[in-house]
Amino acid sequence: MNSESERLNKPSRKKTPPKLAVIVQSGCTGCECCIVFCPVDCIEIVPGVQSAQMQQVVEVDLARCIGCSLCAKYCPWDTISMLPYDQALQEAPAATIASVCGQKTIAPIGSSQPQ
Ligand code: SF4
Ligand code: SF4
Repeated sequence: MNSESERLNKPSRKKTPPKLAVIVQSGCTGCECCIVFCPVDCIEIVPGVQSAQMQQVVEVDLARCIGCSLCAKYCPWDTISMLPYDQALQEAPAATIASVCGQKTIAPIGSSQPQ
């Protein structure tokens, strides 16, 4: 079990799926529809969106996604991409605010590098 699963007290998946879901947050309205359909409950509301200035968005815990595609199928805004496993891990940080890989993807003001 990885540390993220331990933190959330959710079971880890049994094998590596061929594809993973990546939510392109620039198109996400935060409607939570995908959360309802995910069979392993691995889509989370991005921490910090409780702030009135922030639009609610969600992202996938890639360590737990089983690649079933249900979220992509039912997202009303068509903003979830099913990508090959390695490609998803590579591209997720560019599409998410606080990536599931534990990296920030938006560089702080005055910095050219993400932290
Ligand atoms: S269903 Fe689509 S728009 Fe709605 S929260 Fe999920 S990713 Fe965002
Ligand atoms: S592909 Fe399936 S398991 Fe992965 S986030 Fe979407 S609904 Fe959940």
